[in-house]
Amino acid sequence: MSASSALIDAERPQLLGLDRRSLSALLRAWGESPFRAQQILQWLHSRQMTDFAAMSDISKSLRARLAAETRVDEPEIVADQLAADGTRKWLLALPGGDAIETVFIPEETRGTLCVSSQVGCSLACSFCATGAQGLGRNLEAYEIIAQIRVARRILGMGTITNVVFMGMGEPLLNLRHVFPALNLLRDDCAYGLGARRITVSTAGIVPGLDRLGAESPVNLAISLHASRDDVRDVLVPVNRHYPLSELLAACRRYPLPPRRKITFEYVMLDGINDADIHARELVRLLRGIPSMVNLIPFNPFPGSGYRRSSPARIDAFRDIILRGNVMTVTRRPRGDDIAAACGQLAGQVRDGRRSVPLARRA
Ligand code: SAH
Repeated sequence: MSASSALIDAERPQLLGLDRRSLSALLRAWGESPFRAQQILQWLHSRQMTDFAAMSDISKSLRARLAAETRVDEPEIVADQLAADGTRKWLLALPGGDAIETVFIPEETRGTLCVSSQVGCSLACSFCATGAQGLGRNLEAYEIIAQIRVARRILGMGTITNVVFMGMGEPLLNLRHVFPALNLLRDDCAYGLGARRITVSTAGIVPGLDRLGAESPVNLAISLHASRDDVRDVLVPVNRHYPLSELLAACRRYPLPPRRKITFEYVMLDGINDADIHARELVRLLRGIPSMVNLIPFNPFPGSGYRRSSPARIDAFRDIILRGNVMTVTRRPRGDDIAAACGQLAGQVRDGRRSVPLARRA
């Protein structure tokens, strides 16, 4: 590609990442009716159609302009793995050689897609494989949306009922691109998922929490993992910027939808954060917050240096929380035979060569 065409390309917006507001603004700037945005969104997202020729209710001239002045890139599926329990993981190659992972988790009454928001992650949580990689870059909105598109294309339209931002990356450090993606997920002309079917998970970026609450109050999951600052400083280093008192204050003021709870994720690490006293501290910490504690047995990865708490320890910890009148569930590791479980997503691309087999291509 010549330098000049690269320049032109950089100015062409990725159409699949434009939410209704941005698309309307683009159309207005072109002298078109902004209401066309609805039709275009329906074609692109509800109907998953990117061939402009098929968009019969849109004028030829507008179609030609869209084709000439926007881009409709979709990442390539480089691996497609199915775990014994039905969990499915895709490795997607992005322009520039980056790779991200997306995981589909089927359950009896719902199908949850776990999406990535960044390539790698800057937060360096000591028990997380993604954190060990460092940050590659932020994903753009169309790259977040592409994960839903890929899964829907392969699994069928109705299969994905919930979307959780629990893949690679810290969504609240990429709100510039996460917001338009959330808008598209919620837009009836695009993916039409209600706010209560979408969960953003964060390690605790307090200003981001306030912005999310103000602009797109979806369900919240907080990666808590410790009941006191000295332990959390080590496990989730961003705690040094936003200590527990500030994080929980932000949770208290978050505008939760009625009858909703904040999910607190707590990874069970043998001898680190799993003592009875920690459970009692946790109950005290969450007082006054509608909470659900999600105990996650630690998923090991090479070189982590941590061990999973024993099942008996996890049960004892759970019982103390229950006795404190806080709801809690123990998360069953899903897809751990294909490294798709929490904290195992590392975008397995080594030395520029993919370490996982090339499977079915879309
Ligand atoms: N950065 C966001 C989004 C990632 S969510 C956040 O921290 O919430 C991924 C979830 O898996 C987080 O709760 C994370 O703490 C948890 N996790 C990370 N590594 C894990 C591991 N090795 N075993 C179990 N859970 C892990």
